[in-house]
Amino acid sequence: MMQGLFGLLRLLLWPSLLLWGGAYVWLHYGDPQAFASGFLWIAPALLISAFVIGIRFNRSRAAFAALLVALCALLHLRGAPVNLLYCSLALGFAAFLFMRERGFLTLAGATRWMFVALVGLVGVLYQDLPALVAFANKKFLPVAWKLPCSHTAFVMLCIAGLLLVIRLFTERQIMESALFGSFLSVVSALSCKVKDPAFLVYLSASAVILCISVLEISYKLAYRDELTGLPARRALYETFAKLGGHYSLAMTDIDHFKKFNDKYGHDAGDEVLRMVAQKLARVTGGGKAFRYGGEEFTIVFPGMAVEETVDHLEALREAIEQTPFVPKPKPEAPGKNGKPKKRAPGAPKPVSVTISLGAAQSERGLSPDEILKKADDNLYKSKKNGRNQLTY
Ligand code: GH3
Ligand code: MG
Ligand code: MG
Repeated sequence: MMQGLFGLLRLLLWPSLLLWGGAYVWLHYGDPQAFASGFLWIAPALLISAFVIGIRFNRSRAAFAALLVALCALLHLRGAPVNLLYCSLALGFAAFLFMRERGFLTLAGATRWMFVALVGLVGVLYQDLPALVAFANKKFLPVAWKLPCSHTAFVMLCIAGLLLVIRLFTERQIMESALFGSFLSVVSALSCKVKDPAFLVYLSASAVILCISVLEISYKLAYRDELTGLPARRALYETFAKLGGHYSLAMTDIDHFKKFNDKYGHDAGDEVLRMVAQKLARVTGGGKAFRYGGEEFTIVFPGMAVEETVDHLEALREAIEQTPFVPKPKPEAPGKNGKPKKRAPGAPKPVSVTISLGAAQSERGLSPDEILKKADDNLYKSKKNGRNQLTY
């Protein structure tokens, strides 16, 4: 529970709230005037970067968000009614939330281009659309306090903001957090006069949030294992490159995993991998776990002799052994007559999952790769000696 909350907070903080808040603090305590007078090109350059990076990395939501933000900023500069722009942003961001990555030059992409084009048209031709402008400017709420925008815009912004927050809570993905932060920033930007440096500062924050989130997602794809959430082998080799001095490595492998997969199905196997990875991620003694591949994991203990890692590795082995795993019944293949075969009665029994480990410590003249090979040889010994044990 606490971990989930911490994860959500971290997701919200980086990059969204940090950048939006940074812009806010800088505007109040820094010198944004210098930025606004000397570096007018920064905000458009950042927005173009966010759009290009979004396209290049195939993140259509970020690219369309950057496009919409840039368009609304341009229309704001041209003097389009700000309430109309608020409504366009609310509609656009709410729509981007539920978009899937479906490319740019596809049918789905075409509808998104059309939406942006429509916002542009309405923003340019607003003088010929008095009914629409009147609707955007409408005040209908019986509120005592003074709102900084029309009631139509207020309601639409609140709904969009709420949808963004709900989606962030349920999906917990970087792009959801970025859309929320970018939305917050662009609404803050439009609430400022175009000559106010705050306009450019918030606009830049909105673009930077989108850029960073696309890069963060790509980093995660390259360095994190999707199934278990642990750092992947690429990250292990980068850690190897930085390892110096004394260190120990451990290789671990799930016992009889092929049999487990055959008996309970591949999905149950995946569940076991996640459970084991969760325990590995919490290994004590400063160890850092990686998914090496398949059902094999590597733990790196920087600055530790192998004897010092033994208690931590044994505790890990015992923690996994003592975690009962209740496999969901395997979906049955159809019988001869095409109907599913009858399942054996009774609730599924918990099974014990065990791992074998092999560890080795750094030696002068040997590379981390060679030490890993030694740890792997020790793992093989653990397997040969009956599994569910550590050899070092
Ligand atoms: P041992 O105790 O000697 O390690 O036996 P084992 O059956 O665990 O060893 P083996 O290397 O023969 O089998 C590994 C199995 O792991 C084979 C493969 O189907 C399974 N596996 C590898 N990656 C995944 C995965 O991502 N998900 C699932 N469900 N299974 C996987
Ligand atoms: Mg194996
Ligand atoms: Mg195995």
